[in-house]
Amino acid sequence: MAIVRALVLERQNELAIRDIELPLETGPGQVRIRIHTVGICGSDVHYYTHGRIGPFVLNAPMVLGHEAAGTVIEVGEGVTHLKVGDRVCMEPGIPDANSRASRLGMYNIDPAVSFWATPPVHGVLTSQVVHPAVFTFKLPDAVSFAEGAMVEPFAVGMQAAAKARIAPGDTAVVLGAGPIGTMVAIAALAGGCARVIVADFAQPKLDIAGQYQGVLPINIQKKCLSKEIAQLTDGWGADVVFECSGSPKAWETITYLLRPGGAIVAVGLPVSPIAFDVSTASIKELRIETVFRYAHQYERAIALIASGRVDLKPLISETFDFKDSIQAFDRAVEARPADVKLQIVFDL
Ligand code: ZN
Repeated sequence: MAIVRALVLERQNELAIRDIELPLETGPGQVRIRIHTVGICGSDVHYYTHGRIGPFVLNAPMVLGHEAAGTVIEVGEGVTHLKVGDRVCMEPGIPDANSRASRLGMYNIDPAVSFWATPPVHGVLTSQVVHPAVFTFKLPDAVSFAEGAMVEPFAVGMQAAAKARIAPGDTAVVLGAGPIGTMVAIAALAGGCARVIVADFAQPKLDIAGQYQGVLPINIQKKCLSKEIAQLTDGWGADVVFECSGSPKAWETITYLLRPGGAIVAVGLPVSPIAFDVSTASIKELRIETVFRYAHQYERAIALIASGRVDLKPLISETFDFKDSIQAFDRAVEARPADVKLQIVFDL
């Protein structure tokens, strides 16, 4: 065990920057990482304001943060693909490698997965962490720490794009222009979509998504989305709709946005069960896919960022020093419409 400085969620609505004892021995197959940048995720903010997400309840103080990049400072026995000094980002979920889900390649849905900043597992808003080397990924020189810390949320977009099975030239729709919706739109374009219609009520969010070539922002307070899609596709409908708002209302009419044989990808999580038009979905033989975090997406996400084809830098709204991380969280609670991603940096 070692004592390190961390941002600790003591209980609902109470954050503290304080020392905490964490296990930091580097075992076989593990690396020790000095944390550089951590992004604030909606889930971190939700634990702060509500003390729980669904079945995960904060019953003891917990370090927040799971979107991280840093530098390898110690390498455990048997680790060959990383060395001290490597700049890296990390997958926050550690599955049981021998579980049935892991053996089937679906390690993200292993019921035994241990995920940073999901009670009772500590997160990484702390100076150091020990992590399995297989879930630690080297950043090419062209990828900054700030971008490295964006790989985690972008991997969700990558997983959604992969589940959609996009064909080159597809027209996609993204419902909800929050951070994840925007990441999904960028991943869908990288995956071959000719255009991605992004729909939301909040104009500042649409303006940010609209900076990306191929994104067509539509303010659904001013325009009828199904009419716009019909106009753009000669009445045929979209090939894919990514539902990223989690709104029950979005599900009421989602089937009307799609072409026959199209796909719905559920990314946003409605808080309770929702009504869904099964008949229209069946008549169109719609395919419905779901997404839970990601599996096998980090290398692909990093490759896209390094290639220059995906630029996530415009989504980083503001960077805070670690000593100001409580202010950073209070800013995230404000949910300013023009804030996409807030990041915290150690020794800014
Ligand atoms: Zn996240």
